[in-house]
Amino acid sequence: MTKNGKKESFYTGLQESLETLREQGIFKQERVLASRQGSMVVCDDGRELINLCANNYLGLSGDESVVKAAVVATEQFGYGLSSVRFICGTQTVHKQLEKALAEFLGMEDAILYAAAFDANGGVFEPLFDESDAIISDALNHASIIDGIRLSKAARYRYAHNDMADLELQLQAASDRRHKVIVSDGVFSMDGTIAQLDKICDLADRYGALVMIDECHASGFMGATGRGTHEHHGVMGRIDIITGTLGKALGGAMGGFTAARCEVIDMLRQKSRPYLFSNSLAPAIAGTSLEVLRRLSVSTELRDRLHANTAYFRAAIRDLGFTIKPGTHPVVPVMIFDAPLAQKFARRLYELGVLATGFFYPVVPMGQARVRVQLSAAHSREQLDTALAAFAQAGRELGLVDLLGK
Ligand SMILES: *Cc1c(COP(=O)(O)O)cnc(C)c1O
Repeated sequence: MTKNGKKESFYTGLQESLETLREQGIFKQERVLASRQGSMVVCDDGRELINLCANNYLGLSGDESVVKAAVVATEQFGYGLSSVRFICGTQTVHKQLEKALAEFLGMEDAILYAAAFDANGGVFEPLFDESDAIISDALNHASIIDGIRLSKAARYRYAHNDMADLELQLQAASDRRHKVIVSDGVFSMDGTIAQLDKICDLADRYGALVMIDECHASGFMGATGRGTHEHHGVMGRIDIITGTLGKALGGAMGGFTAARCEVIDMLRQKSRPYLFSNSLAPAIAGTSLEVLRRLSVSTELRDRLHANTAYFRAAIRDLGFTIKPGTHPVVPVMIFDAPLAQKFARRLYELGVLATGFFYPVVPMGQARVRVQLSAAHSREQLDTALAAFAQAGRELGLVDLLGK
């Protein structure tokens, strides 16, 4: 092969791989919005849709007061820092946000990242080495898996949410210097809430640390929205919390790790995504601070979200749909068959509802679903309109026979 032919074969290889993805029906098409994120969105084709697939749990992404806070912070602190934190990229607003996050979560200190993906990517390698063990739930988020790969620690995996297997892995790791159990606080595909009370008990018994990723929990899980640790009554027993500013807490971007001071101090010294990546934009830092203030004085948004969740979960079941049981605003409406789930999501779109179909390999084979995510911003009218669309599409595709309704 000529040198040029070799180079060209790189591109034809990619073309073939992309074609295979298309043939397998797993090529991801991006929906283009022409509006702010919200309970209603406008697509680039002009269609107005009820949005049931954003991580906009508290409805803050397009909220007017949140947008104003971003403008105010930008006016005061500028557009960006053009620096990493340790050179000249730390402003008062970053320090205030770190303090406020730590307080909100009930931890000693916190450190900011450009994304939760970076927080998880940069948390293990500085804290654990080949003498240590990381014991991870099999369904943990991709960023946790990548973060673990970047560390030299021994890896142990326990079957998803399986406390007996977790205990076996703790025993298997008994000769390691330090052990840390790692779990998503809430698993986003099923809305499953990790059994943190049991995890903390096991950790105590085996002298292990506990780390949770609170991306689908911070701001609304627990009585005052602190997260899964509050929900399970284990605040003060979690060693490391990672989370995002890009979901419930405003939805822009940014991540954090919260822990004891010595952990955070070490991450500031050694965590590579912190050391070698730009500071969080001041607009995000200032706005997140406002959001935390708002959530600390009132649980109104969190309460509305949970009321909407309870309402939708009961109503969709009454329509005859099968959902994964639970209480989280992630509601998996089970269709089981992958092509049918796609068809169903497409029909919902035509009926004015934006919801995403998920199928293998994102979820297990035969577990295809349309995943609904509730928001505090949804009105009852919007939820009723969406439910009517589910009923119609379900009837048309023979998914439900609608006794009574
Ligand atoms: C979304 C998500 C992340 C990544 O968060 P970003 O801030 O968008 O990088 C990490 N972990 C979990 C569990 C998530 O759901």
